[in-house]
Amino acid sequence: MRFVPRFTDGRAFPQPLGKIVCVGRNYAEHARELDNPVPEAPLLFIKPASSAVSLEETIDAPFARGEVHFETELALLVGETLKDADAADAAEAERAIVGIGLALDLTLRDVQGRLKAKGHPWEVAKGFDGACPLSAFLPLGAVPNWSALAFTLAVDGEERQHGHGADMLFPVPELVAEMSRHFTLEPGDVVLTGTPAGVGELSRGAELRLALTGGLEVVTRVVD
Ligand code: ZN
Repeated sequence: MRFVPRFTDGRAFPQPLGKIVCVGRNYAEHARELDNPVPEAPLLFIKPASSAVSLEETIDAPFARGEVHFETELALLVGETLKDADAADAAEAERAIVGIGLALDLTLRDVQGRLKAKGHPWEVAKGFDGACPLSAFLPLGAVPNWSALAFTLAVDGEERQHGHGADMLFPVPELVAEMSRHFTLEPGDVVLTGTPAGVGELSRGAELRLALTGGLEVVTRVVD
């Protein structure tokens, strides 16, 4: 059964989730911690709809395949079709966004490293079943101040990641517009906006607390 995005007020989005369009390096500090160059254009990839699960459920991952990393990201729910949007027209991209939430972009880091070293595609490291735990989405009444948005991840009570919209290399409207130039964004698609520094190994049994300042808090656990 396809995952259906939900709003924080309990409403279900009228359509099941489509694709999840992601950006690889949208915070300079995170690019540096993985020894990756800071990109000139957003590095885009897609996680399939089958990778989505609710962040509120116990998190499971294919631990037998090597190290699983957490990446905490601001997630956007797309409510309108957007194609070839003008990057200079923030309002055009903003109109397509109807919700804002949090996600984990779970990554099989060892698998990804081996595939990257060979120059191979690394979908299997990012697109496995359960690779995208998603929170409920805060309905967007008005366009938020993207650069003022902040979110955190604490693991077993210790803060590990702290993201600020102002630190994004490609701010939300520009990023969403650029994505729409490669992939038509459709109602029910989700956009992940990249992870700040502090990514690390997801440990079995850990408690994760994700918070979007002033809006959303989810406490979840990794399977034992
Ligand atoms: Zn990511």
